[in-house]
Amino acid sequence: MTVSILGLPVRNVTVQEAVTDVAGFFEQRESKIVVTPNAEILQMFTEDDTVKAALLQADYVVPDGVGIMIIAKKLKTPLKEKVAGVELAGHLLQTAAEKRKRIYFLGGKPGIAETARKNLEKKYSSIQIVGVRDGYFKPEDEPAILEEINRLNVDMLFVCLGAPKQEKWMAEHKKDLKLGVMLGLGGTLDVLAGTAKRAPKWMIACSLEWLYRLIKEPWRFKRMAHLPAFLFKIKK
Ligand code: UDP
Repeated sequence: MTVSILGLPVRNVTVQEAVTDVAGFFEQRESKIVVTPNAEILQMFTEDDTVKAALLQADYVVPDGVGIMIIAKKLKTPLKEKVAGVELAGHLLQTAAEKRKRIYFLGGKPGIAETARKNLEKKYSSIQIVGVRDGYFKPEDEPAILEEINRLNVDMLFVCLGAPKQEKWMAEHKKDLKLGVMLGLGGTLDVLAGTAKRAPKWMIACSLEWLYRLIKEPWRFKRMAHLPAFLFKIKK
């Protein structure tokens, strides 16, 4: 069920299997960490020891993006399915709403998590979003944030601070938190708030979601520019 991609243990699961596994963590109260790296993060994993250490602390890693799927194939350990963080999040929110699990959103610009909460409350009458907090806090605010999350008895925490900040944050604070599961989900709250859009279905189907994001957010070019060379270098 797990495949080592350049030393990172990645789950070989479908989206549905990932939803079942991660929803299982709600009950366990072990503050499990879920990460959804794409090829850029995998490149950071191979080049930056602090990113590597953070990702190796995760309990469950799913491949978010066509780049990781290509790398897995090149390494002759193909993965079943891309598990996009935003898609996983959508399914988990539905499951959590049905089971009345307690959800907390951390991340995004001020107001974003609150708008996401309002949108979801309209969509699911039973959803329990018990707390939200923007992702631009100061280090001195952190103890109060951790205390609030613990006090609210959270089953599922979305940590949306961008990669690799969110992965490092979760690894650093696992010991401070008592909850079911926390997931590093990048710009997911922006999508849930409606301020960012996912690529159109045809682009997702053609594995072009990365191109859509590049067009919408051209600053990503710098981050992505080294990826082709990274992909090319990988050999079995
Ligand atoms: N963000 C945040 N705090 C920060 C930096 C970023 O909350 O200090 C948020 C930002 O507002 C955005 C998300 O993190 O909502 C990053 O989204 P992006 O799609 O860029 O994720 P990535 O591709 O970096 O995983």
